[in-house]
Amino acid sequence: MKKFLLILSVLICYSTISQNTYIHCGKLIDTKKGKVLTNQTIIISGKKIISVENGLLIPKNQEDFIIDLKDKTVLPGLMDMHVHLEEEFNPNRYIDIFTNNEADRAFKSTVFAKATLLAGFTTVRDLGGTGVNISLRNAINKGDVVGPRIFTAGRAISTTGGHLDPTNGMKRELMGDPGPNEGVVNSVDDARKAVRQRYKEGSDNIKITATGGVLSVAKSGQNPQFTLEEIQEICKTAKDYGMTIAAHAHGDEGMQRAIKGGVTTIEHGTFMSEETMALMKQYGTYYVPTITAGKEVAEKAKIAGFYPELVVPKALEIGPKIQETFSKAYKKGVKIAFGTDAGVFRHGDNGKEFGYMVEAGMPAMEAIQSATITSANILEIDDKLGEIKAGYLADIIAVNENPIENIKTLENVVFVMKEGVVYKQ
Ligand SMILES: [Zn+2]
Repeated sequence: MKKFLLILSVLICYSTISQNTYIHCGKLIDTKKGKVLTNQTIIISGKKIISVENGLLIPKNQEDFIIDLKDKTVLPGLMDMHVHLEEEFNPNRYIDIFTNNEADRAFKSTVFAKATLLAGFTTVRDLGGTGVNISLRNAINKGDVVGPRIFTAGRAISTTGGHLDPTNGMKRELMGDPGPNEGVVNSVDDARKAVRQRYKEGSDNIKITATGGVLSVAKSGQNPQFTLEEIQEICKTAKDYGMTIAAHAHGDEGMQRAIKGGVTTIEHGTFMSEETMALMKQYGTYYVPTITAGKEVAEKAKIAGFYPELVVPKALEIGPKIQETFSKAYKKGVKIAFGTDAGVFRHGDNGKEFGYMVEAGMPAMEAIQSATITSANILEIDDKLGEIKAGYLADIIAVNENPIENIKTLENVVFVMKEGVVYKQ
């Protein structure tokens, strides 16, 4: 009994002491100022950063402990504005739709979520799946599954035969006539209803497919697929519910309608004209390039049988062009946010995008800012994430080299902390 009481009192005592973590950082990236600082200490209590101090401080209390990252570069957890955590592309994808149960997608999504977090991405925006992505977000928030913080669109919104119409490419008997409930709209009323349905299902934001796309079994990867009025209604309704809107777009006309209609971000933006770049600046629309996905689909299209026949020419044409468009848009001063379209390629390879951005002319620091402060801004969480700062959540990662000198070091993240919990060290 005595022993039991002793253990009990130790436990109570232990839990009441506020134990702090001191992270010793050889280098620390201040994403707000765009500077690399040396010899800094981050002090963490629970989920939050309580202070960032000059020098490598020794803890005051015995209970506190030190994480030694003296020979690393430390930066805030990265954010990817375009992923699909429910799937990872493989040649069976078009058959999987008929053979996989929802539970199969769910189990796989937990693997993809973990790979994403361990690659240093502590926050992601999921731009479309079947709704498993909503359950995945909830399971991660509850602590049942290991993964990044997710802001999800749930199901994307398309038009009949549009890029993410769920029965595209099926035989007529199976095509049916999906409606707003399934994310397919054909009028202003449908558009409003589809947004409200997403809200009801628990989506955080809205995704529309403003033009054709590469991987759908459909002829055009570029045609405009919504009327301006439909997009306006989607944006107006989404804003009523505090949701932002992401628009998948390759073709220029559909892109212009999306920008004028009020979307928050343009995804891919392949055939963006100079006029459209000016329009994006005028409307304050962000560009999420997804260069990695473009390169990956162009590469895979060269493997016979990897994609259906209708997809191959689109992949070969659109894929390689995105990096060039990104380069032009960046030079024109369009606001850029980091996004990869992971799921079209291997989850966990998200960091490759940094190298492509730098190769296309963006300075390394700005590429890092696009995946931290800019993304936090889009998600409206810039008051608690995107910087390593007192009062902010302790989402902290580290890499072996200074990414300003070698951007590719971000493909190999060696330390991951999310909300004060270490997942990789
Ligand atoms: Zn996508």
